[in-house]
Amino acid sequence: MQHNPWERAKNQLHNAAEHISLDPLFLAKLGAPDRTVGVSVPMRMDDGSVRVFEGFRVQHNNLRGPYKGGLRYHPKVDMDEVRALAFWMTMKNAVVDVPFGGGKGGVAVDPKKLSASELERLTREFARKLAPVIGPSLDVPAPDVNTNGTIMHWIREEYARVSGADAQAVITGKAIKDGGSEGRTEATGLGGSYALAEYLRLTGQHPQGMTVAIQGFGNVGSYLAGYLQELGFTIVALSDSKGGIYIPGGIRDLKAVAACKERSGKIAGCYCVGSVCDVTNMEQLGGRDISPDEALTLPVDVVVPSALENAITSDNVADVKARIVLEMANGPTTIEADRVLAERGVVVIPDILANAGGVAVSYFEWYQNMHGETWTKPDVFAKLKEKMDAATGAVYQASLQHQVSLRDAAYITALQRLASSAA
Ligand code: GLU
Repeated sequence: MQHNPWERAKNQLHNAAEHISLDPLFLAKLGAPDRTVGVSVPMRMDDGSVRVFEGFRVQHNNLRGPYKGGLRYHPKVDMDEVRALAFWMTMKNAVVDVPFGGGKGGVAVDPKKLSASELERLTREFARKLAPVIGPSLDVPAPDVNTNGTIMHWIREEYARVSGADAQAVITGKAIKDGGSEGRTEATGLGGSYALAEYLRLTGQHPQGMTVAIQGFGNVGSYLAGYLQELGFTIVALSDSKGGIYIPGGIRDLKAVAACKERSGKIAGCYCVGSVCDVTNMEQLGGRDISPDEALTLPVDVVVPSALENAITSDNVADVKARIVLEMANGPTTIEADRVLAERGVVVIPDILANAGGVAVSYFEWYQNMHGETWTKPDVFAKLKEKMDAATGAVYQASLQHQVSLRDAAYITALQRLASSAA
């Protein structure tokens, strides 16, 4: 049960609700999604066979604006996961104070096993099924795990075909040439670095000398690593689903590691000296190989789960040595593990704050599309910093006022904003 994300989401809601007085009707509305949509996605594979995939979209709540949230392609996608992720989007959008509600969707598929044309056919079929329930003022999807700007563009085209209206703002996370925003690709990682830096500033701490281990080196983890390094943190470990590297003295050339991962398909073995990344450099750098999960239990100041749900569980929480957990994945900590971390005084910067930078810039993209504007990257970054600093400040204040964890404080902040929209 503790691994069911939807049970966890409801538990988080009720924990936070105990600290403030809320109308039971309002709470009941948030305790279930407005609408769940399940679709079948039949398609012809390259070898001529036909397969049917399952697709989902959950529209959790639209009190503050159109439903908003990503679409993921992953074999483990199911309705309970999507329901939790949609709920977290409602909360996240309220915490970062953008005028959106929460939604999420996906297809249960391993996209790494599809050819490029199969991926396109799957997406276009899924988009045709979603078209009647999405729209710029209704529900605005975006990228999530294993989806990207190209996939978003196909969805926009199919939406135009089915609805007869070509609307840029039906989707965010588009490539810049298709109406996307400057800075959207970097936004989640950059936003996480702003949240951590602002939390340290508020508590009188400094990044210099702090070590960081990151689990997950996709779009979010890779940008985050670079921005944290710029702020003065020392990145000592990186891992992906196949394993990773640990260099206690610090991984200096993150760009070389990213290029090595791009080439070889994995981080393992990416010990880079100059332009050469090879396992033969391991000894010279004083490094060693790690398993994907070992990144979470190394002796560092900050650990960053930046992959999928259920990274920190009752199985490994006793081994977590960091004093700060920056949740860049959605739902990476189970209820039980969260309780243990809180008892030990480990600070958890919760997902609905830490990774809100992505949807914040999705809002900027949607706004630019709706108003025919084009903002520069420095402008987007400045606006993102303003949003992340304000959200971090509000959550921190709520934690002091109610004497609760940052997670409960983030929910309290979100619930108060949602309640005032409901009033
Ligand atoms: N998938 C991202 C998230 O989990 C971004 C959602 C969006 O931009 O709508 O926050």
